[in-house]
Amino acid sequence: MFYTKTKINEETSITTLITAENVFTTCIDCGNEISVDLDGMIVDGHLDLYAMGCRCEACSLEHAKKHRGEPWANMIIAEHMNKARGV
Ligand SMILES: [Zn+2]
Repeated sequence: MFYTKTKINEETSITTLITAENVFTTCIDCGNEISVDLDGMIVDGHLDLYAMGCRCEACSLEHAKKHRGEPWANMIIAEHMNKARGV
């Protein structure tokens, strides 16, 4: 169990359990707030919250289109097409 703890003043702090539903960041391209499942952010067994940037779905698709042909980009484009078809 992990949680955040924010000190409001000398007597008060807010403690919040980290779950798959209450972690957010902002898209590095458009700045929109996006929900993040930290389990999905682990790459090769590592989680670097300080260096990692996230993109929203729309910006991820646009970024992937610029790198069409690379395996990771093809995967993002295919996932988007499957969602659009309801698969
Ligand atoms: Zn975005």
